[in-house]
Amino acid sequence: MSLRYLGRVSPQSRSIFASCSYLKARPRYRLFHDTSSQKSTTINSSDHHNDHHHHHHIISPGVQSEAAADQSLNTARGNLVEADAHPHSTQYLKAFDNKELFSFLLMGLCTSMNPVLRTCIKVFPYVPISVIKALVYRIYCGGDNIQDVRKTARRLHSRGINNVMISLTIEACEGNDNIDPEYIIDETIESINGILVPHTVEMIETAGKDINDIPSGYVALKPTGFVKNAPHVLKNYRNGEEKAFDELVAKASRACQAVYDANIELAKKYPQRVAPFVVAVIDAEKYDLQPAVYELQRQLYQKFNQMHKPVNVVGTLQMYLSDSANLLAYEEKLANQNNYRLGLKLVRGAYIHSEKARSTVIHKTKQDTDDNYNAGISYCIDSILEPSSKANSSTIGHLVVASHNAESLRLASSKVYSDANVNNKNKNNVVLGQLLGMADEVTYDLIQNNKINNVIKYVPWGPPLETKEYLLRRLEENGDAVKSGNGWTTFKATFNTLMGRLFKSSA
Ligand SMILES: Cc1cc2nc3c(=O)[nH]c(=O)nc-3n(C[C@H](O)[C@H](O)[C@H](O)COP(=O)(O)OP(=O)(O)OC[C@H]3O[C@@H](n4cnc5c(N)ncnc54)[C@H](O)[C@@H]3O)c2cc1C
Repeated sequence: MSLRYLGRVSPQSRSIFASCSYLKARPRYRLFHDTSSQKSTTINSSDHHNDHHHHHHIISPGVQSEAAADQSLNTARGNLVEADAHPHSTQYLKAFDNKELFSFLLMGLCTSMNPVLRTCIKVFPYVPISVIKALVYRIYCGGDNIQDVRKTARRLHSRGINNVMISLTIEACEGNDNIDPEYIIDETIESINGILVPHTVEMIETAGKDINDIPSGYVALKPTGFVKNAPHVLKNYRNGEEKAFDELVAKASRACQAVYDANIELAKKYPQRVAPFVVAVIDAEKYDLQPAVYELQRQLYQKFNQMHKPVNVVGTLQMYLSDSANLLAYEEKLANQNNYRLGLKLVRGAYIHSEKARSTVIHKTKQDTDDNYNAGISYCIDSILEPSSKANSSTIGHLVVASHNAESLRLASSKVYSDANVNNKNKNNVVLGQLLGMADEVTYDLIQNNKINNVIKYVPWGPPLETKEYLLRRLEENGDAVKSGNGWTTFKATFNTLMGRLFKSSA
């Protein structure tokens, strides 16, 4: 499995709340359809079948009226004004231990000036893995074995983060076929039973919250990890690689079955819970692999997401794709036609820099991506929360808002946690997720200042050697953050917090 996409987090998203003025930044909320190309409301399913990239007739999922959308935005704005009253400080640093603060400082130092950064990047491949492990691994990675990841999950719990999305990190990039799909699937299933299930039960039993206030636990499944030569298989899943693709689906199904079985067992013990206990999440890949991944997702939805039951499988949609609003509509239509529920993780999308067809497939501007993302999460949240009296009856059954963007997260949380939804049974079916070691100030603000329960962290884990490349990207990105004013502010605050503690303890 690769963590390539995790390397694409813009400095803006990490730039704390200081840059987040929701009211200033948002010109006008657009409905979930692009006026230029989406006039038609008919859908020709033969055009779409299994390859949304080639469809031309469009249906908008924007079932709400423009007035309703504006109203919902205004409500969200009202809540955000209130939330903005909280100072966006560096308070969150207090939750980290000295070792973690030291690691943040070290990353900050390495990236403080361009020449230093360049040297660090050059030297990094030669730094022994034991040194990396001792110095920075812990702030970005969950560990290299099941026990360590459980400890990480507990550490996160002490910061108010009551569940995790675990992701076994085995690089399976194009050109690198050193993976053993059988090993990956076995380890993944072990991680479900050895990390996710016990951690979720522990949180239910010990966190002192209502059973419906504990977020679900997630296992991320990378489609490229489940078959040898995955990019080739995915690109040709209908063109000679049908058998290999079926094997890939069978492997992913094994992990989903483990999730399904765990949910059935846990529901017997805790029948009052509405949301799933654990969930399998299919990650999104580069554009040319996605038609096959959508097909994989649909087969898994069909098999594991029954009507009127909590969903077991969540698929990913990349909202930077200009066609993503249509795709969401299409997925919802397919689900209705075939009697299954949709689970969705909405991301902006990570492959913008490497996407060859960027000019034709990705939104023209960041603002367009942002508008589309926010419209997408609004639509899904409204849909999930709409049947307020009934649990698990909507077609879109579960949503992970996977983002570091403070505006998007606030939009989502203000909708879910509005006064109108206090007793809504489906609230727990919307969860907000950020990467471990990234956007910690945003995560902190959601939990501590806004009292949001449904926040999780994405925790990559696996052999340290495999995660070295991932750590190198953290180094590069932190360089951007430090160069932007906020990184420097954070660096100074980290330094002061650490010095304050050391000084105090030696006094
Ligand atoms: C829990 C979690 C799981 C994830 N899983 C996946 C996954 O499965 N697949 C995947 O692809 N990514 C995944 N990502 C990464 C995600 O897609 C984003 O790259 C990352 O989160 C940064 O986006 P943001 O929402 O945090 O917001 P921001 O930092 O505000 O937005 C940055 C993003 O905006 C978009 N963007 C930037 N500039 C432009 C432009 N000029 N025009 C159009 N769009 C632009 C890009 O998508 C860029 O990544 C995941 C992220 C998280 C937190």
